[in-house]
Amino acid sequence: MKTGIVWLRRDLRLSDNHALYRAVRTCERIAIAFVVNPPLLDDGRIGSPIATSFFSAVGSLRADLRKRGSDLAVLRGDFAEELAAFCARTRASDVFFNEDFEPGAIARDAAVRSALEASGIAVHATLDHVYFGAGEVLNRTGEPYRVFSPYQRHWLEQRAVAPRLPFPSDGTWLDRRLVSATELGATSPSPVPEMFGLQTIPVWNAMSENAARARLLRFLKTAAGDYEQARNVPGLQATSRLSADLRAGTIGIRTCVESAFRSARGATPAHRRSIERWISELIWRDFYQSILRAYPHVERDAFQPAAANIAWRDAPDDFRAWCEGRTGYPMVDAGMRQLNATGWMHNRARMIVASFLTKHLLIDWRHGERYFAQRLADADLAQNNGGWQWAASTGTDAVSYFRVFNPTVQGKQFDPLGRYVKQFVPELNAVPEAYVHEPWLMPALCPGYPPPIVEHRHARERAIRVYREAFAHHERGQ
Ligand code: FAD
Repeated sequence: MKTGIVWLRRDLRLSDNHALYRAVRTCERIAIAFVVNPPLLDDGRIGSPIATSFFSAVGSLRADLRKRGSDLAVLRGDFAEELAAFCARTRASDVFFNEDFEPGAIARDAAVRSALEASGIAVHATLDHVYFGAGEVLNRTGEPYRVFSPYQRHWLEQRAVAPRLPFPSDGTWLDRRLVSATELGATSPSPVPEMFGLQTIPVWNAMSENAARARLLRFLKTAAGDYEQARNVPGLQATSRLSADLRAGTIGIRTCVESAFRSARGATPAHRRSIERWISELIWRDFYQSILRAYPHVERDAFQPAAANIAWRDAPDDFRAWCEGRTGYPMVDAGMRQLNATGWMHNRARMIVASFLTKHLLIDWRHGERYFAQRLADADLAQNNGGWQWAASTGTDAVSYFRVFNPTVQGKQFDPLGRYVKQFVPELNAVPEAYVHEPWLMPALCPGYPPPIVEHRHARERAIRVYREAFAHHERGQ
């Protein structure tokens, strides 16, 4: 009887799981494993929200497998050594996993593959976390797209011809193959953030496949109808809140995309437009994943070579004020405080705070990107890097450098009543609507709330000058 190990990483679910499906099609016995490698949690980029969400998804999956008479084998230590020992213990001949496009993960997977293959184990890697892989949506010259609109057009054409349905990886045919808990024997205890010097963040401690599916269905039934209009309003709960699920893999991308297309059928034109807009956000996710896969240097450097010349400021006090939500710009401060308090930030606020850090304060996007990575429950290298390089005008298809978001105008447009600001910046609770986005204009000072750390017009002109110099310098070939 052929035994296969399915090594789960960013795909913590049983349904719509490509690696698991492949294992079910190939092996009579299946054991499912998750490996915790403590040094990886020590790299300074992993924070409590994402650790909580991943570990709670591990716990839910384990409970689900135990109900089926099996278990999730939690291994702790070096990836290759642990997996090789586990293969020996379960007499497995094959290991299955889903690809990950992060440069560090690619290197890890190559090392694990060669160690396992050297001991005679067959290794199978499958595409799972994106709808289309990096090499699947290419332009006429066979290159990856660098601009989103043609990428999206091509993506949609390709899906219309060959949609990818969710993999039927769960069900009785899986149950019949699962290695029993008794045969698996004792493995490590389920990880919790405290084991690694981090904290459990309650709001992220209920991640599971069922909860993710319920979130998707609820969104498609209700909020999706208004998404086109309401998705930009941070004070509303108008988006799906599925980003942490897509990150940990408690839901599959094919399930999201195909459920959305299904609910668009027969919908009113306005509702359909909203769902199409949501699908477009999922395509942005594929786009940034393919950029990271095709241009791994973006992990550390700007996508656009000219941006290497930007004269960033070294301003630790300004950076600290930004991190703590004390810039004196209510919309920026609300975004940062939402992040610090909840481990999530609305997309509009992410754009505003990222633009403010890189343009108003002229602080290198890498500092902001790292801070987000440590604080977000959905922190994902590809999307985080893509979002930051977009806002900083250093990335592919990025916003032009002379477009500097005005945080006051953004606030008036997207939070006209100041509902979002007041939720996260209590010092402004008593401020009348007319002043909520520019409290410095009030006749009396607002107690406890700082004045702006930089004046908008001055900061905008400085940013445009510095960026222009950097890009001109590059054009001159210097
Ligand atoms: P919805 O609006 O419901 O969108 C559905 C899904 O589409 C999201 O869950 C996400 O997977 C994807 N998506 C939505 N917007 C984008 C986008 N602009 N780019 C790429 N994918 C998108 N998203 C992350 O998942 N992880 C990150 O680390 C991350 N960092 C970001 C940093 C910056 C500076 C910016 C501007 C954006 C970042 N985003 C990131 C994208 C976006 O803000 C979040 O995906 C979104 O706010 C999550 O909320 P939601 O699930 O309710 O989104």
